[in-house]
Amino acid sequence: MPITGTHIAYFHTCHRKLWLFAHGINMEHTSDLVAEGKLIEETAYSRRASGFSQVALDGMKVDFYNHRDKIIHETKKSDKIEESHEAQVKYYIWRFELEGIEGVTGIIEYPKLRHRSLVELKAEDRKAIPEWINAIEGVVESDHCPPAINSKICKRCAYYEFCYSGEEGS
Ligand code: SF4
Repeated sequence: MPITGTHIAYFHTCHRKLWLFAHGINMEHTSDLVAEGKLIEETAYSRRASGFSQVALDGMKVDFYNHRDKIIHETKKSDKIEESHEAQVKYYIWRFELEGIEGVTGIIEYPKLRHRSLVELKAEDRKAIPEWINAIEGVVESDHCPPAINSKICKRCAYYEFCYSGEEGS
């Protein structure tokens, strides 16, 4: 199974979300929050589209890569799940390294927050990423959907209705 940046991000957000996504239950396109995030991304990059390339590796696509500076750019709406954003970019850098492209770093931009976060791949990440992949395969290959996590992030998740419809007080 090709592991995408979305698998990595969802693994670090919620295993249930990862399982639902991997099993083709996809509600992201119905979410206003997701649509807003995509608009922010398109607006941020339409202002300065030159200098970026799209890079496609097996099962994975990086939309904004600056070849000259070797920087992967990602734009996100909120930093509430910043760890998952960083993991996603670290995974991209790791995949670039596997292709022999060394010295790549990442920048995650949060235009609404006027904040940017620098991402570097460290030795411990190179050790951890294969373990993430094994764990992702374990979650995805399970016949059972993991339980809802009852986290504060759930209310902003595209699967919220799916996970909590019928529950009172959730
Ligand atoms: S609503 Fe919560 S439990 Fe359900 S998939 Fe999203 S993050 Fe996971």
